[in-house]
Amino acid sequence: MKLSKRIREMEESITLKAAAKAKALKAEGRDILSLTVGEPDFITPVHIQNAAITSIQDGTASFYTVASGLPALKQAISRHFETFYGYSLAPNQIVAGTGAKFILYAFFMAVLDPEDEVIIPTPYWVSYADQVKLAEGVPVFVEATETNAFKATVDQLEAARTDKTKVLLLNSPSNPTGMIYDRDELQAIGDWAVEHDILILADDIYGRLVYNGNQFTPISSLSEEIRKQTIVVNGVSKSYSMTGWRVGYATGDSEIISSMAKMISQTTSNLTAAAQYAAIEALEGPQDSVEEMRQAFEERLNTIYPLLTEIPGFSCLKPQGAFYFFPDVSEAMKMKGYANVTDFTDAILEETGVAVVTGDGFGAPNNLRLSYATDLETLKEAVRRIKAYMEA
Ligand code: PMP
Ligand code: GLU
Repeated sequence: MKLSKRIREMEESITLKAAAKAKALKAEGRDILSLTVGEPDFITPVHIQNAAITSIQDGTASFYTVASGLPALKQAISRHFETFYGYSLAPNQIVAGTGAKFILYAFFMAVLDPEDEVIIPTPYWVSYADQVKLAEGVPVFVEATETNAFKATVDQLEAARTDKTKVLLLNSPSNPTGMIYDRDELQAIGDWAVEHDILILADDIYGRLVYNGNQFTPISSLSEEIRKQTIVVNGVSKSYSMTGWRVGYATGDSEIISSMAKMISQTTSNLTAAAQYAAIEALEGPQDSVEEMRQAFEERLNTIYPLLTEIPGFSCLKPQGAFYFFPDVSEAMKMKGYANVTDFTDAILEETGVAVVTGDGFGAPNNLRLSYATDLETLKEAVRRIKAYMEA
């Protein structure tokens, strides 16, 4: 056997796989509307582009940087935390790396020993479980039900806790459900984690993408005790439309953070220098474009949500943040005679040309995910086609 057990047991990212399939079909000339990958469709704001161009042309981006990230980037991240989280950070509490995705992996590598358990509420973002397994940890799934707005309760977490539980993963606003934990829920979860000495990994990447008056509360801002127990992961991909730049970072306990930097020093060396200069400008420069893009997502959400809920067999909670719809399609599957959602998703693609992502990879066998990080006309047409298919 040429390949390692590790890689054989790993699943390819289904979001990226679905996006690649849609692109390939489009390239063949098929009329495909892709609501697969979660990435803003806007061009990175020009002032951010220019910061990278300048750093390339004046030569500052020619060289390796410190493995954990440029001091100026750490300063920008710390200021960002003062504004949005209400606390500041020392440079040794910050590490930047190649996308929040790699930062998450560096975190799992830094804290997990074989058999250590990570509690992951379902539905969950596709990469968490495979990354935990790659780091030889064990993902423990807690089923957050639609009746509780896809949010895990302390009772559920407590039922899943063992003496091997090391980390609780919390992603609010959530990919794929768009739900946000409120302050009281977070306080209860935070107190539980402190009581049992469980690390909280707070993936706050959609924190600035909240709609219709909903509020994002960072769990790390609730108390000193909870903050000490929490590693925050964030990045510029979603709020600044910079997915291609691959800038992510983590903040929190200096021992964990420096261990993540050690992992970076032996793997990627450092986040691409020009991308770091771009990220500094993103965090420190004018913020108008963040709000403009947020408003565009909000308009899409409010326009498309009522149309989506008119599709026969689709039932969907209204998302509060991020940019995904995550309807329960169990009725729709029955209507069309499909027993599993991956087959149903393939049928939608075949019959309508609309590419969406199966809920299977999110630990949700009754749901599928549609990203609304695309223009309104495409979204309207996609929903029209799926509705026509369900009515036929
Ligand atoms: N966390 C969540 C919940 C996400 O949806 C994404 C999107 N890919 C990431 C982390 C990683 O983002 P990136 O690597 O682009 O910074
Ligand atoms: N987070 C995005 C998504 O869920 C990007 C794809 C990925 O990184 O998996 O579609």
